Amino acid sequence: MLRWLGLGSFRHGVHPPDAKDATRDLPIRRLPFAPLLVVPLAQHLGRPSIPLVREGQEVARGECIARPDGFLSVAMHAPASGVVKELGLVPSIAGRMVSAVYLEPLPGSTQEVVEGTPCPPDAEPEQIVRAIQEAGVVGLGGAGFPTHAKLRPPEGGFFDTLIVNGVECEPYLTTDHRVMLEQREDVFAGLRYLLAATGAQRAIVGVEENKPDAAAHLRAGLPEDLPASVEVLQVKYPQGAEKMLIEALLGRQVPSGGLPADVHALCVNVATTAEIGRLLPHGRGIQERVVTVTGPAVRHKGNYRVPIGTPLRFLLEAVGVEDDLSRVFLGGPMMGSAASSLDIPITKGTSGVVAFGERESAATHVAPHPCIRCGYCVNACPMFLDPSQLGLLAAIERYQEMAERHHLMDCFECGACAFVCPSHIPLVQRFRVAKTALRKAKAP
Ligand code: SF4
Ligand code: SF4
Repeated sequence: MLRWLGLGSFRHGVHPPDAKDATRDLPIRRLPFAPLLVVPLAQHLGRPSIPLVREGQEVARGECIARPDGFLSVAMHAPASGVVKELGLVPSIAGRMVSAVYLEPLPGSTQEVVEGTPCPPDAEPEQIVRAIQEAGVVGLGGAGFPTHAKLRPPEGGFFDTLIVNGVECEPYLTTDHRVMLEQREDVFAGLRYLLAATGAQRAIVGVEENKPDAAAHLRAGLPEDLPASVEVLQVKYPQGAEKMLIEALLGRQVPSGGLPADVHALCVNVATTAEIGRLLPHGRGIQERVVTVTGPAVRHKGNYRVPIGTPLRFLLEAVGVEDDLSRVFLGGPMMGSAASSLDIPITKGTSGVVAFGERESAATHVAPHPCIRCGYCVNACPMFLDPSQLGLLAAIERYQEMAERHHLMDCFECGACAFVCPSHIPLVQRFRVAKTALRKAKAP
């Protein structure tokens, strides 16, 4: 249907090897509790949550341990029944030390989760938005943006379409794929909440054609009274980015510097949707998430339900890693970040852990050559930027010019340009440095 309409994908983009075979057919398994769980208070964009617990306090699994600090913040919940050991600091993926609650699970801590006040799917929109914030829901695709904060249309605007993002275009990751296969009813329940909260008249679940079983499974179970469809898209990276997905499904282009709301659309990741459908009927909060743990250096690859706050070191020991473990990516090799420490805990935004051995890491450490003006990066960029020019300006620190004349801030660091660059120029790293410098210069 989409291809008949001239839709089904977006312009530009790349085709990296998907590397999903090792985990796509493996059912989700549960990881045990680590001896010490570390729950960062800033797992989302916006202000860190405010702790509600003190050292020595016993908490039950699922109990709220930190409340939101303002609208752009969410609650945090205990991932296990246990004792608060301390309120301290922990390294984050961004390399900063952030506040965290250290929780020691009680011996024999079970999977039982405390119930809160249920939110019915036909509740008022404001009540659903509040319930999603109190459940601590953020974009589980990795963005970490508080989900409740984008559900209400802007003043004078409206949403006509809710897009549920089941694309999962990042290589290696199969979290969303397994969630669509194993939590179909949760996805549909979440859809009802999201439609009610946003006022959108219809929902479209976008799935790439490398997940035919997931698309068929969702289609086969769609309740008749749910105004939703499942659309299959061509495989292309980075189709999971919301601007690309809106173009692929609706043929609408979000303007430069704009938001999906500008074209009356809203995108929510499919695992986030399922989590809303799973939690709200019980008044619960997020205490765990599904994580793809894979890569050449992982022995027991798979999708695991991991308590939030599980240290990376414990996770890797539990699945077994090869002796030559060299680099670990959180989130995947294209848009994820290399972990600087194995003390970093799994957070709500960790969709994948991808571990490489020395051989694969060495293959990525190729010395850059000068730009040969081949234009491959220009043809790859889904935002129609000129990565070649941006890269040259970044190298001579002309950051202001990058922003003002070449729309640097439209770059969402997908890495498509660097992926095709025959000169191996670290374009994305250069763009990150430029953005950081511009933000610092702007800060009061
Ligand atoms: S990283 Fe930025 S410049 Fe490069 S392709 Fe992606 S959006 Fe374009
Ligand atoms: S792909 Fe690399 S070498 Fe080619 S134009 Fe872009 S930056 Fe230059």
